[in-house]
Amino acid sequence: MSLSIIQSRIAAEEQRAGRPAGSVRLIAVSKVQPDERVKAVLQQGQRIFGENRVQEAAGKWPDFRDSFDGVELHLLGPLQTNKTRQAMELFDYFHTLDRLKLAKRIAIVRDELGRCPELFIQVNTGDESQKAGISPEDTDAFVAECRALELPVIGLMCIPPVDDEPAEHFALLRDLAERNGLSELSMGMSGDFECAIAQGATYVRVGSAIFGDRVAPTA
Ligand SMILES: *Cc1c(COP(=O)(O)O)cnc(C)c1O
Repeated sequence: MSLSIIQSRIAAEEQRAGRPAGSVRLIAVSKVQPDERVKAVLQQGQRIFGENRVQEAAGKWPDFRDSFDGVELHLLGPLQTNKTRQAMELFDYFHTLDRLKLAKRIAIVRDELGRCPELFIQVNTGDESQKAGISPEDTDAFVAECRALELPVIGLMCIPPVDDEPAEHFALLRDLAERNGLSELSMGMSGDFECAIAQGATYVRVGSAIFGDRVAPTA
């Protein structure tokens, strides 16, 4: 269990990069982790968590929220349009807004619920065919479409291709966000969060480095 080690590595990198202390928020990615490990991290004071699947999150977070105040939950995995309402009732942030159909659905449910999670648009910075996300060249237009729907888009998110140097993808995401007037950047995981902080990340998503390796999910 190494939450405090990750926190100090983040603080050190903030300082090294000349960024204000506390400018990077740590999302502890608890997907597929046993409840005892998640509870231990809650007991250490961590309140920001990320999950990949709506169903899995629905099974454990209502109970954790009953026991711990101030939990903030981030959806990091792909969202099926038909799960939009359930996800909007459960999560405070979505990081994977990646298509107009989903944006329109979120706007409809927002009007019904009277509230909406804060939204990151996922950008497929490597233009990988198997990966979700808006391609970089379509990002400006998609941000504009989301704004026309009056959605609370706060930033951009990416997952760099495994074989590439992540820094160039993080820098591209930062440029796209800047030119669209978006202040938040969700980038960096266990293996590259320090690089992401150097490139301007405001949210890093760290799972295995905090919780240990994930047990393979049972289908
Ligand atoms: C699983 C996951 C993470 C965390 O990955 P680690 O390598 O365990 O830190 C971050 N972001 C997304 C989108 C994920 O699916």
